[in-house]
Amino acid sequence: MFIGHFAVAYLLIALFPAVPPLVVLFGVSFPDLLWPILVLSGKERVTVSPDTPLQNAIGFTSYPFSHSLVTGTLIATIPGFFIGCLISPVAGIVFVVASASHWLLDVVTHKKDLPVLGTVRDTKVGLGLWNYPRSAFVLELLFYSVITVLTVPSPLVVSLLALGFAFHLINANSFLGFSKANPFTTRTYAILALFGFLVFIGIAAWIFTGM
Ligand SMILES: [Zn+2]
Repeated sequence: MFIGHFAVAYLLIALFPAVPPLVVLFGVSFPDLLWPILVLSGKERVTVSPDTPLQNAIGFTSYPFSHSLVTGTLIATIPGFFIGCLISPVAGIVFVVASASHWLLDVVTHKKDLPVLGTVRDTKVGLGLWNYPRSAFVLELLFYSVITVLTVPSPLVVSLLALGFAFHLINANSFLGFSKANPFTTRTYAILALFGFLVFIGIAAWIFTGM
């Protein structure tokens, strides 16, 4: 999931207007910012199938640190603590909550591969919406659009909708399978995920500064 995470960010920004939007945008992205770094450094593992670009073919073999509810949320408390000291305690807490929301939304789309505790013997969960790629494409876009319209200040709605639509279209091949082969290797997939999240955060934060 990509743009869906940012819908939750907009909701949290509306609920906690004193917290800088950048904190919330980084919070909802935190697991997917950590993940490429851990994959590239060999601490977590993923296998990308060369034969299909679809997301349900990605093997998230091991990601106990970035994508487990308990360990991942505990790791998020480290930046959360510094944000709490530097900005405000509420900002620190909202960062951690935003990071945990990432896991909850990923449960909807991922296959049964999301760890709960992050320990060696662990329960894995996932409702597998990615097994229905066309529905997943429409539902994520709908989720993003509805929350954006309901929660974002009206002067920002069009820009943030356009931003979300643009990124969802860039991501469309992984839902709709336009290419038969997968254009990405494991490495490029991880780098693109990191780059994609950082660019989205930057543009969305810039739009929010216009409030
Ligand atoms: Zn994720």
